[in-house]
Amino acid sequence: MKTDTIAAIATAMSNSGIGIVRISGDEALQVADRIFEPRKGNKKVSDMDTHTIHYGFVKDGDEVIDEVMLLIMKAPNSYTREDTVEIDCHGGVLVMKKLLETVLKYGARPAEPGEFTKRAFLNGRIDLSQAESVIDVINAKNDFALKSSVSQLQGAVLNKIKDLRGIVIHQIAFIESALDDPEHIDIAGYPEELKEIVDNLLADVNALLKSSDNGKVLKEGINTVIVGKPNAGKSSLLNLLAGQERAIVTDIAGTTRDILEEQIQLNGISLNMIDTAGIRDTDDIVEKIGVAKSKEYLEMADLVIYVADSSTSLDENDEQIIEAIKNKKAIVLLNKSDLTMVTESSVLEEKLDKKVIVISAKENTGIRELENTIKDMFLQGEVSFNDEVYITNIRHKNALLETKNSLEMVLNSIENCMPEDFYSIDLMNAYEELGSIIGESVGEDLVNEIFSKFCMGK
Ligand code: GDP
Repeated sequence: MKTDTIAAIATAMSNSGIGIVRISGDEALQVADRIFEPRKGNKKVSDMDTHTIHYGFVKDGDEVIDEVMLLIMKAPNSYTREDTVEIDCHGGVLVMKKLLETVLKYGARPAEPGEFTKRAFLNGRIDLSQAESVIDVINAKNDFALKSSVSQLQGAVLNKIKDLRGIVIHQIAFIESALDDPEHIDIAGYPEELKEIVDNLLADVNALLKSSDNGKVLKEGINTVIVGKPNAGKSSLLNLLAGQERAIVTDIAGTTRDILEEQIQLNGISLNMIDTAGIRDTDDIVEKIGVAKSKEYLEMADLVIYVADSSTSLDENDEQIIEAIKNKKAIVLLNKSDLTMVTESSVLEEKLDKKVIVISAKENTGIRELENTIKDMFLQGEVSFNDEVYITNIRHKNALLETKNSLEMVLNSIENCMPEDFYSIDLMNAYEELGSIIGESVGEDLVNEIFSKFCMGK
């Protein structure tokens, strides 16, 4: 089948050292022929060997657009499995745009967001979960997220799901053939056998689902709010935690208003410090923005870090905070342990059923315990980065929930002594749901939806 030739700027649209314009499709080499002039010789791009790099110029007629390196990857040995040309040019926004325009003028059309990866998928180079993990690799915010995306990209999810599907289809096939040929296939005792198999499948599906909670934490971070009375040491703690990495500020659209989010990396886990305009300029959120407002921030938080000052006694502010965080997931940090202790941990432990950790933001003590406590709170079980399969994608999670439902229906049918064809209907549903994770039996709409999430040029 003939495919049209697409092109896009594959690197970020900001001024940088190098920019890459990528061309893929049946005419990729010909398009490159029309605009590329090698520095030496006059070999045509279509005659050059695959996987070679060439130095020269991109020209629009007589006008030199840029001095470039040209990379050739002929089908099927490319990301899209199509003929692909990558042009490394200077990384100025204007130059990249001009170069892309030239490529388009000479026969390519602009790629849609995610279209390169979509082609890689459609041409069978990667499965759907791998395609989705490409987005995740691009968007990974921290080490954990990157590692889990990369392992997913290598097919960790794919293999696990394939295993499960294999088991399911085997049972469907058995039931179908037993129903077709009751004389030769004895089904006595089969329901008990199937029950055990489905129990095991459910255990695997549940483990994957559980990993998705970890996965969310790893990928998206923990929404965290710091509270404490003025001078308790909130800013000092933030600075200490943020260290060198404190610069990542993203705008995320909140439901009621835009909030600012600052990410802090804590031993591989991201804390998204929920921050409103001025929440940190305001010494005391309870006092200055009112209990109602602070409650709103607390609502949004997965975790509250309450900083108390051990060198003073608890005051009205502390009492209000204690009241406000009673029912939240919270950690109490009793700060300034380097000074004489006026408030002991036991006082806070009595008032709040929360873990109290004694720290000194000034002398950097107690932070390791804070890290470990957060890990224990949010990550179930020991997390190993390399070999565990994490479900980090909401679509995968939903499909697993459906799979779980279908499997439970099978158990239900077994328990109620329903006829065997009842089992196979629900097993088939489970099979299809699992298939949708790796892109088998997915409708085209779904495929399009997934790829439209990609950014341009990927
Ligand atoms: P915030 O108002 O809660 O943000 O508190 P700051 O972080 O601004 O700290 C208030 C004061 O307490 C500053 O003078 C800090 O240097 C001091 N401080 C913060 N943490 C500690 C600590 O662990 N030990 C001591 N001795 N002083 C601290």
